[in-house]
Amino acid sequence: MRVQFDGGSLFAADKIPGLVNYLLRWKGMLTSNVEEAYGFARSRPDLPLPDLEILFAPAPFFEERLVAPTAHPVVIGVVLLEPVSRGQITLRSADPAGKPVIDPRYLSDSDGIDRNAMLDGLRICAALASAPSLRSQLGPIVRPVVPPGTPDEEMLTRALEELGQTIYHPFGPCRMGRDAASVVIPDLEVRGVDELRIADASVMPAIIRGHTLGTDRREGRRSDPQHVVPSRRTARCRRTAMQAKIGGPCEEVSRI
Ligand SMILES: Cc1cc2nc3c(=O)[nH]c(=O)nc-3n(C[C@H](O)[C@H](O)[C@H](O)COP(=O)(O)OP(=O)(O)OC[C@H]3O[C@@H](n4cnc5c(N)ncnc54)[C@H](O)[C@@H]3O)c2cc1C
Repeated sequence: MRVQFDGGSLFAADKIPGLVNYLLRWKGMLTSNVEEAYGFARSRPDLPLPDLEILFAPAPFFEERLVAPTAHPVVIGVVLLEPVSRGQITLRSADPAGKPVIDPRYLSDSDGIDRNAMLDGLRICAALASAPSLRSQLGPIVRPVVPPGTPDEEMLTRALEELGQTIYHPFGPCRMGRDAASVVIPDLEVRGVDELRIADASVMPAIIRGHTLGTDRREGRRSDPQHVVPSRRTARCRRTAMQAKIGGPCEEVSRI
């Protein structure tokens, strides 16, 4: 959900004054981490742990920044922390240079658990935006584009269906595990390849309840430094490992 804001957003962060301020004084809007406030919530009270992350950014984040902003909006959004829906990665063809087919299948679980949780999260976002302390600072909703007077539930459904996107936390295409289908074993060693370990997001057996970068870096540090495969070499090494495993070159498997 994007709500217009009357000045003071990061709209001008990368304009000349913002750049000069940052380069000369290390101050100003470019020191922002963009998503400046977070919170965690449960979509249902019976859940043992929060399943939603609520985030707030004073940023002109339209259409994944593919469209130039024209105003000062703030973004209030929800992230589903433990999606039930499962996507899949398959080979497009036998061509080893061909790109894989990546089908994330967002919100596709048959019971609608993910969709309902996201709508609950959007209701929390709407409630926050209409709290007296924020309401007085905010202008009209600019995304989704709805006619004035649109019922809240319809607006939130449109927000989900039109504005939903990934926040790029892929994990687990080469997950670790003790079963034969896993690519690495829990000490990060690649099955069937001696002396090769992988420590990055691709080996995570389950997604964490937060943003992935810190865990990826910690995973790297936790592994034996003598065996750590540096990030830039990881995919190449993994490809070598897969070649050894399946007896031929394979599509890059570390990136999804
Ligand atoms: C737009 C965006 C925003 C994000 N924002 C956040 C955030 O705010 N907070 C957060 O916690 N996480 C964020 N993430 C997620 C985070 O960046 C990833 O979880 C993390 O980088 C994964 O680390 P990694 O080491 O597994 O993979 P990567 O960091 O992707 O490293 C893989 C490396 O392998 C190299 N490589 C790939 N193929 C080959 C090859 N064939 N040969 C040699 N090298 C190869 C790549 O160049 C790359 O350097 C964001 C991701 C994106 C894309």
